[in-house]
Amino acid sequence: MEVRGELLIGAQCTAGTGPGFRSFDPARRQEIEPEFRAATLADAERACALASAAFLAFRQTGAALRAAFLETIATNIEAAAEPIVARVMAETGLPEARCRGELARTTGQLRLFARVVRDGHHLDARIDPALPDRTPPRADIRMVQQPVGPVVVFGASNFPLAFSVAGGDTASALAAGCPVIVKGHNAHPGTSELVGRAIQSAVAQHQLPEGTFSLLFDDGFAIGSALVADPRVQAVGFTGSRRGGMALVAIAQARPSPIPVYAEMSSINPVILLPVALEKRAEQIGAAYAASSMLGAGQFCTNPGLLLAIDGPDLNRFVQSALAALAAAAPPVMLTPGIHDAYRKGVQRLSQSAGVDALLAGEADDGIVCNPALFETDAESFTANPALAEEVFGSAALLVRCRDAAQLQAVVGSLEGQLTIAIHADDDDIDLAGQLMPLAESKAGRILFNGFGTGVEVCDAMVHGGPFPSTSDGRTTSVGSLAIARFLRPVCYQDVPPALLPDALRDENPAGVPRMMNGQHKGGR
Ligand code: NAP
Repeated sequence: MEVRGELLIGAQCTAGTGPGFRSFDPARRQEIEPEFRAATLADAERACALASAAFLAFRQTGAALRAAFLETIATNIEAAAEPIVARVMAETGLPEARCRGELARTTGQLRLFARVVRDGHHLDARIDPALPDRTPPRADIRMVQQPVGPVVVFGASNFPLAFSVAGGDTASALAAGCPVIVKGHNAHPGTSELVGRAIQSAVAQHQLPEGTFSLLFDDGFAIGSALVADPRVQAVGFTGSRRGGMALVAIAQARPSPIPVYAEMSSINPVILLPVALEKRAEQIGAAYAASSMLGAGQFCTNPGLLLAIDGPDLNRFVQSALAALAAAAPPVMLTPGIHDAYRKGVQRLSQSAGVDALLAGEADDGIVCNPALFETDAESFTANPALAEEVFGSAALLVRCRDAAQLQAVVGSLEGQLTIAIHADDDDIDLAGQLMPLAESKAGRILFNGFGTGVEVCDAMVHGGPFPSTSDGRTTSVGSLAIARFLRPVCYQDVPPALLPDALRDENPAGVPRMMNGQHKGGR
């Protein structure tokens, strides 16, 4: 399978006719062939028309066909693993092990959603049978979740596979029964094309309507904006910057018929170091922090960007250990010159902020690499300057030294919404940890103890979401099986003739869907 520099619009593979661009190898600092050309507004229009036409048939596909389709995408990606991994490495500078691991995560996600579709819990089917003898009588009332319609997915720069063309947003939307149009990220168009072909082939293999999937590229914001504004599109999945996410939210809200944008944007993922944990294992926590911070050059939405602790000698031990580990690590290549530039500016901004001291200054260099940075400040300076709580995407963190437990709680209370909050605690820290829990629950989508948020498990109980600005809608997740809920909406059927009911609501329950009947769960298969 070779990269041809093509857009995939339904069953068609076609060279774009918009402005040209090439991807860039950040490790070798050179452009990669072939040239890609951006889509035109006419291409976007065609992809939306095909997706809209496909929706009517695709939403009716049964669980077996939809699950098999997701599994075929996974199989097709595995069959093209070698060219895909080679292209990801060239377009991102990521090491081979990471690329292979991410490919496995991506196919695992697709298979997870195949299992979800077969299992049927996501349909949340409910039946309240008629009570004709009740006063007043009750009608026959049934409910099941239905797909919302065509979904636009923006591929993320920092996960070229798992959050991109066949990533969690696409897998969950297809699983829900929604056609998907992907706006590929320009940082990895070749990877996007190869993975897109795996999906396009699966559409043909299962004889699904061609508009079930399309992949477009942009050179600027015109195509992405037009897709979000198109009246046929019903929801958007996005991972990237706060500015980009909010721009898409604004477009979606300004439509005559507004739609939800599930944007995962910025989070600094506070790590709270409690006193007894520091006393007993400051050095281990310091080294573990450094490893988490440097993972993937810090280009993870769950990267630990804020450290909070009560000041004292044990905290100094943590700092010394973290600095030694950070300084010893080889600086990894960053994904794009743009992300590297943003990192350099973020580090510079922290260096020049009042009341902030640089412990490790993230020295500039002539490559596209991430030299780690660690800064410290006091709680008063931190709460006085909201800019100190802004994400610096890369291996940079700010340590806030607090006077006492009350000030530590006040700092946590001042934070914006987060994807994760990590608490490092010993058994003897349990009282203070207990006081922090309600605060953490109100601020974050995931709370973890004695670990770091990097490394997000794809499973049923995972929440990769959180209050604004970590996401634009903190009620959902973009990782794990619960992600399918973003692309479903409840439809109620009152006294609808049995022959017209969806399968999941028919008395005979042919697919064995788990249901709630008369307020009691009846477990499916
Ligand atoms: P980005 O600039 O937000 O771009 C993400 C995608 O959205 C790209 O496809 C981009 O199109 C599109 N886009 C951005 N602004 C738009 C607008 N106003 N209208 C329409 N489309 C728009 O993110 P990025 O390129 O991945 O990285 C830039 C910065 O984002 C990083 O330095 C980092 O700060 C942040 N980031 C955060 C996370 C996280 O998980 N928190 C992940 C990745 C990046 P183009 O490709 O045409 O620009």
